[in-house]
Order: sequence, then structure tokens, then C-alpha cells
Amino acid sequence: MIATKPNSESLTDLASGMMNAFVYGGPGKMSLEARPKPMVNAAGDAVIRMIKTTICGTDLHILKGDVPTCVAGRILGHEGIGIVESVGLGVASFKPGDKVLISCITACSKCEYCRRGMFSHCTTGGWILGNTIDGTQAEYVLIPHADTSLYNMPAGADEDAFVMLSDILPTGFECGVLNGKVSPGSSVAIVGSGPVGLAALLTAQLYSPAQLIMIDMDDNRLKVAKRLGATHTINNSSENAVAKVLEITDGKGVDTAIEAVGVPPTFELCQMLIGAGGTIANIGVHGHPVTLHLEKLWDRNISITTRLVDTVTTPTLLNSVQSKKINPTVLVTHHFKLDQILEAYDTFGNAQKTGAMKVILDCQ
Ligand SMILES: [Zn+2]
Ligand SMILES: [Zn+2]
Repeated sequence: MIATKPNSESLTDLASGMMNAFVYGGPGKMSLEARPKPMVNAAGDAVIRMIKTTICGTDLHILKGDVPTCVAGRILGHEGIGIVESVGLGVASFKPGDKVLISCITACSKCEYCRRGMFSHCTTGGWILGNTIDGTQAEYVLIPHADTSLYNMPAGADEDAFVMLSDILPTGFECGVLNGKVSPGSSVAIVGSGPVGLAALLTAQLYSPAQLIMIDMDDNRLKVAKRLGATHTINNSSENAVAKVLEITDGKGVDTAIEAVGVPPTFELCQMLIGAGGTIANIGVHGHPVTLHLEKLWDRNISITTRLVDTVTTPTLLNSVQSKKINPTVLVTHHFKLDQILEAYDTFGNAQKTGAMKVILDCQ
């Protein structure tokens, strides 16, 4: 079948087995293209008709050419919700018509890593969606290992809130809050007030820390952080973050420093904020080496953790969102149609000007 340009006749195209999809064309190149609709190949596969998807900071890294595993021609996207269109013979938990949440991590549940709860390192899964296999920024997506990579959406579930459960909520919670050992009465600093930093802020409150300090260079994002429960906000382009954190913590430094940006200066800042016995929990995707100041930290009894989200906490977080203990819809700032995705990327990529946090794309 010959690819046609996407147009308003996309329904006709669907009848002929084509769909609209956002395709990475190599560093700096992207386009909305007509692609063949995916079909079930393996027994564990499901094809999902996308309802809503979103754009992640990781997608911007890919477009810059920072993610070598993602090659030109790949449909991007690893988040979203949809309706099961068809399933392979081996899929037991889902059937056509089910409304589902798609996890950003694909898990076979059988390999050595999956058996240890490290789904992110699944030997036939992990973070493959929109990376080494085609992703969710399309009208349809193929999900391998569907039984253990999808979740049923409860009736009446808030669709935008559930899109936040694909990636940013489990990422902020597992890599930041759980790895950082946030506990009642403790002090926490989160460096980076973007969507993932704010997801860490929302989920850290499940453990009632005494101080929750958000640090960023964007006043608008700090204002949102304050609304979402930050006890203190620091703009480190105009204020001295180290001095201010020491003042807030009576000179001790914080128990948990969460890095949610992914550049050397923010990881170095975490090393300056951490108190004795504390934990630096890295979330950021780093592309460059960082200096480790062992000359200052060797006697401080600290820990440093790294992690790729495993999404093992998705069932727990799903309950917390459903019962409104966590309300992630406040992170959604913009809505677009899938065929406006170039505009959506522009809005998301220029967050300082547009105030964008998470942009929702309607795929139908
Ligand atoms: Zn992501
Ligand atoms: Zn596995």
C-alpha cells in the first residue's frame, strides 16, 4: 500500500488500513504521516485505538538526537489511554472494547528482571514504546505483552488524569519519592518543577514530609508548585538555593534531594543541598558526565540512587488517582487534536513562553 498524505479523509484512510502518526525523521526532523494501521502479530499482542496521548520531555530528547536507540522512521509516544481493538490468542485479561491505560514500560512478567520487579529492564520489553517499536502518538498502537503492560480503566475514570499514570506519576513516585526514602516529618528538596518534578511533589505528600522545597528557574512553574503543596519555593536564577535551603533546615541540609532535570548543574546542586544521612534520588535523563564531589561527601553517610521507572506502583497510584487522593489533572495545561501535533510540540517545547506542562492530544 502506498502512503498518502494525512488529510481530513482520515476515516477513508482507516477503512483502507491507514492511520495518522507522528514520525521521528532523524535529529531535528518530524512529520505527521499516513502509516499502515498495526496488526496483531504475536499471541500476547493487543492493538489499541488511541483516545488520548501526550508528549514527554523524553520525546524532545529523541528529536534532538540524544537517544540513539530510537531511529528515523519511528512513531513516537509512550503514554496514553485507548480502546482495545483486537487481541492475540494468548491475551487473557483484555478483550476488544475494553478501555485501557497504556504503561510506558512493557513487561513480559516472565524474564529474570520482571521476576525481580524490574520491569524497566525486561529482556523483551522495558522502555520500547516510541523508542525501539512504534509508539502512541498515532491513531492506533500495537502493545506487546498486553496482559502485563495494560491496565483496565474503571468506569467514570478521569481520562486526562489517567494519561498522567502512564509515565510521570510512577516516575516521580518510584525514582524520586520511594528511592529518596521520603518519610513523615522529613525534609525534601525537589530540583526541577517540570511535569515530573511536580509529579514527585504530588506523590511525596502521601508520606507527609515536614518541608517540601521546590527549586526551579521559572516563576510560573514555582507558582504551580506552591498551589500543589510545596511548603517553600526557590527561584535559583535570582536566589541562592543553597543558602536558602540551609536556612529552612536550620543549617542541616535536606534528608531527600530529588533531581528532576537531567543536567550537570542540577545534580551538583543536589550534592550541595543534601544533609548527613540523606539520599540523593536522581530522576533526570542525563546526557553528560557529572562531577561527584566525594571530597565533600565521603563522610556524610549519604546514598545516591538512579532508576528507570519500573511502573510497579501503577496499580497503587491508579487507586490514589481514582479516589482523588492525588489529582494530576492540574498538570494538564493544553489540549490539541492529533493532527495539530506539530503545534503541540512547539507549545510543549517552548514551555517558558507558553506555560505548558502536559499537553493532551485527542486522537479521535
Ligand atoms: Zn515519558
Ligand atoms: Zn520481562
